[in-house]
Amino acid sequence: MKKAVQRMCIGCSEKKDKKELIRVVINKNSEIALDKTGKLEGRGAYICDNEECLDKAIKSKKLERLFEIKIEQEIYDNVRDMMNDKKNKVSSEEIKSIGGDVNG
Ligand SMILES: [Zn+2]
Repeated sequence: MKKAVQRMCIGCSEKKDKKELIRVVINKNSEIALDKTGKLEGRGAYICDNEECLDKAIKSKKLERLFEIKIEQEIYDNVRDMMNDKKNKVSSEEIKSIGGDVNG
């Protein structure tokens, strides 16, 4: 029997099933993104799907050390937004009212 692939969360440092974690990726342009498909290129780190772990990772500067770059608060905010976006599957009506300047 194969074991499920496990990865360590950079927030709480617990090992979890890869599927339960979100992959955070840094690309060649030093841009950070959440890899929801698991197919983005770049160096990756894994984090639980919750803000608590994100906060821990921010405080401990885990991502900065891992990716060896300075990460602005703005980027963390983006990651948080992406996280929340994934969690609260808002209805299409809500998206319409929120949307507008999101694309670009
Ligand atoms: Zn965690």
